[in-house]
Amino acid sequence: MKSLVRGSIGVTLVCLWLSLAAETPRIAIVMDDLGYQDRLDQAIMALDSRVTVAIIPESPGARRLSRQARTQYREVLIHLPLAGLFQDDCEPALTCVGLDWPAEKMALHLADALARVEGAVGINNHQGSRFTRDSEAVSMLIDGLRRINSEQGRNLFVLDSRTAPDTVLERKALAAGLSATRRHVFLDHFPDPDSIADAWTQLLAMARRHGYAVAIGHPRNETLAFLERALPELEGQGFELVPVSDLARRKTLVTGLETPPYPVSR
Ligand SMILES: [Zn+2]
Repeated sequence: MKSLVRGSIGVTLVCLWLSLAAETPRIAIVMDDLGYQDRLDQAIMALDSRVTVAIIPESPGARRLSRQARTQYREVLIHLPLAGLFQDDCEPALTCVGLDWPAEKMALHLADALARVEGAVGINNHQGSRFTRDSEAVSMLIDGLRRINSEQGRNLFVLDSRTAPDTVLERKALAAGLSATRRHVFLDHFPDPDSIADAWTQLLAMARRHGYAVAIGHPRNETLAFLERALPELEGQGFELVPVSDLARRKTLVTGLETPPYPVSR
C-alpha cells in the first residue's frame, strides 16, 4: 500500500514537472502609434516578426505599413483613437471615436479603419482614458466590432491598452463573447534606458509568475535600442515571444469571469 502511495506521488510529481516544463512563459510585445515616423517605423518593422504592430488608421503610413507587415507575416492591430480624459478630441487630423456614437456608426468607422489597416486582426485603444471607462460607449464599440465580425466573417479581438485604471473595455469584450486581453506593462512610460530596463524586468517577472504577459512600447529611439538588444535574448532566458493574438484567444476560455486572475498592471 505504502509503495502504491509512493508510486502515485512519484507519477504526480513527474506529471507536474512535465506540465511546468511545457509551460514556457509567453510574452507579447505590441508597438503602438505606427504610421507617422518613417525611420522609427522601419526600425520597428526590422524587429522580430513576432512583434505586433498597432497602426493608426488615418496616419500617412497606414496602408504601406500594413502591406509590409503582411509580407513579413507580422500581426497588425488597428490602433483606434478614443477620447482621452484631458482632451475631448484627438490630435488634429485624427477622428476620435465619439462617446455617443451608435453601434452602426462604430461599425462604419471600423470598416473604414480596416480598409486602411489591411489584414488587422484586432484593435487596441490609442489614448481613450475617458472612453474606456464609459460603459455605454464601450458597449456600442463592442457592438460595432461584433457587427464587423459577423458581416465580414472576421474574428477581431480587443487588446485593452489600459490607459485608465477603471477601464471596462476588456471585461465588456469578454462578456460579449469577443476574444480579448490587456496590456500589463508599458515599456516606455518613462522613456529613459533605466526605466525601460525596469519595465522589462517587471514584464519577465510577470510572465514567469502567470505564464504570459503583454507589453506595449512606442516608436522611440530608446525603446528600439533596448528591444534590439533584449529580444534576441528572450529565448535563451526561457521565454517565448508570441504575437498578441496568441494570448487573446486563450482569454475566450474565461469569458464571463468578472475578475479574471490577470497580472495587475502597474
Ligand atoms: Zn497610442
